[in-house]
Amino acid sequence: MSLIRSKNTKPELIVRKIVHALGLRFRLHGSNLPGRPDLVLKRHQAVILVNGCFWHRHVCKFGRVVPKTRTDFWEAKRSANVARDRRNKRDLRRLGWTPITVWECETRDIERVQRKLRFFRPDRKS
Ligand SMILES: [Zn+2]
Repeated sequence: MSLIRSKNTKPELIVRKIVHALGLRFRLHGSNLPGRPDLVLKRHQAVILVNGCFWHRHVCKFGRVVPKTRTDFWEAKRSANVARDRRNKRDLRRLGWTPITVWECETRDIERVQRKLRFFRPDRKS
């Protein structure tokens, strides 16, 4: 497992580009919000969480991968991530934010991400 969760990952950069192209303004890593969401669209009271499929156990072929070594360790880690994701989303909603999860596998298809975010109105010219 050479995957290390870090800031400014490639899927995150892809999502930023798409959000920017949609004319939406955002801030990065909302440090005062639960789970420090990757993108914060303050004007829309929404946050975008860019999640790695393996780490956050997406229901896709990448999320279903079971490591052959240190299986218990990874599974415990991933379960903790999923539980934390759930908690963070709940807390965000309670604070009036709309959390939107964009999965790593979705960033391979830019149109798919655009569709997911198209209900936002651009911030420009207003
Ligand atoms: Zn996935």
